[in-house]
Amino acid sequence: MTATVIDGKEFAARVRAQVGMHVARLKTDHGITPGLAVVLVGEDPASEVYVRSKGKMTVEVGMKSVEHRLDADTSQADLLKVIEDLNNDPEIHGILCQLPLPKHLNEDLIINSIDPAKDVDGFHISNVGLLGTGQKSMVPCTPLGCLMMLRDHHGSISGMNAVVIGRSNIVGKPMAQLLLNDSATVTIAHSRTKDLADVVRRADIVVAAVGRAEMVPGDWIKPGATVIDVGINRLDAPERGAGKTRLVGDVDYDSCAAVAGAITPVPGGVGPMTIACLLANTVTACCRANGLPEPEGLTA
Ligand code: NAD
Repeated sequence: MTATVIDGKEFAARVRAQVGMHVARLKTDHGITPGLAVVLVGEDPASEVYVRSKGKMTVEVGMKSVEHRLDADTSQADLLKVIEDLNNDPEIHGILCQLPLPKHLNEDLIINSIDPAKDVDGFHISNVGLLGTGQKSMVPCTPLGCLMMLRDHHGSISGMNAVVIGRSNIVGKPMAQLLLNDSATVTIAHSRTKDLADVVRRADIVVAAVGRAEMVPGDWIKPGATVIDVGINRLDAPERGAGKTRLVGDVDYDSCAAVAGAITPVPGGVGPMTIACLLANTVTACCRANGLPEPEGLTA
């Protein structure tokens, strides 16, 4: 079997187009422009790239984009004040504080200082609790993107066996919760799981979110299973020239694609969906804040 490639780039473009349509309608029908604020502390190069591309895409879908770039030695009190001002700003519907934060800042405290209704990353403890109890919440962007692709590919995932490899708060756990809320039978595997190969072989859906290059080989995959590869790992690629690198996922693409029914590539799979879902969450937050119906198909 050769797997169907789930094209995250194309899917993300569709999601952004849908978001753009809702933004246009909010403007013309209600005179409202959704606004997203991104707070970046310090100069982490990877974070800089993410923030720039988030800002660009926010503007492209017609939303207001605000960036707060703070020095690496910004005090906790000053950062909390920036967030408080954004919480109170009626033109801002989504707030994202780019992680990781410098070591002297208490990440949990900062995240939980964001108004849960504006927490478009879905990391606030209230949103975690709402998701965990199957209630309306803001859902973390990467798992939401994975869920959208799975729903699109399968229609319903009810009753399917899903294995999530990785138990982080930002990917693994919320992913498992979303799959459970859609009535999949969910196993969470992690670094202490015994006989991971055997666990993965039982899965109709595998979501790999570990951060270890190509760790899942094709002979762990049940024939016909759907493989969602969240991992982003940079490997040296001397064959491309001196100092060149290439991105790979957590699954060994070629051997898995030979067995799976469907697979997401890296790059061009889950990655593009993450920013698209951030924009989707912002428009959802804006509708909720204004008591308007939520856009269909853009939430969990
Ligand atoms: P993390 O380091 O917080 O968590 C990794 C998880 O993997 C842990 O729960 C750990 O128990 C598990 N793990 C480690 N070694 C393992 C092993 N040998 N077997 C089984 N499980 C093992 O990472 P994260 O933030 O969840 O990110 C995971 C990957 O996803 C990274 O490559 C990251 O870059 C990528 N990521 C991609 C996006 C995207 O937009 N595509 C977003 C977030 C994270």
